[in-house]
Amino acid sequence: MRDRIEELSAAFTKFPGIGPRQAKRFVYHLLSAAPQERARLADLVLNLSNDIRQCTLCMRFAQTNSETLCLYCADTSRDNSLLMIVEKDQDLAAVERAGAYKGRYFVLGGVLTLSGKGAIRERDLVRVVERRAAAGLSEIVLALSATSEGEHTADRVREILTPLRGPMTLTELGRGLSTGSELEYADSPTLSAALRNRKET
Ligand SMILES: [Zn+2]
Repeated sequence: MRDRIEELSAAFTKFPGIGPRQAKRFVYHLLSAAPQERARLADLVLNLSNDIRQCTLCMRFAQTNSETLCLYCADTSRDNSLLMIVEKDQDLAAVERAGAYKGRYFVLGGVLTLSGKGAIRERDLVRVVERRAAAGLSEIVLALSATSEGEHTADRVREILTPLRGPMTLTELGRGLSTGSELEYADSPTLSAALRNRKET
């Protein structure tokens, strides 16, 4: 029989930032938890794909009422002239928390590393920008992290957007964000300032 403790630990080590020792701590925590708590967690994991869908426009994962669009993409009061490009869902959540942006979003789903690893949703990006362009898009805001990977990814995004842009403005966040910082962890006033101070790129 396979060792369940080892098996579950190995599954946790696939999580971002989790090493073998932390993975073991999770497993022992679960073992000491009440059976109902374990069952609830198992149920949440099992039902993730039932309750959560990927929005076909911004590509974030969200609980959605409509078939294909998330709350932000379905919201007709948001500004169609602005499209913000972020790395991941957590970055979008940070921008929403800051409350200083009412445009549309696109989530790249990752970054490209200098060593050529990683992937972003290139084809979806082209599809969404073309569609948004037809609906009045006039400015694309690159809101990537102020890290070397973020900058490398921004270069690739610029490359993809160049033939699509036409008269659209391409801007990036002002460097209120300190070098090396990830958008996800920026506080709301910093993010709002970075957004206000965005500049053409
Ligand atoms: Zn959406």
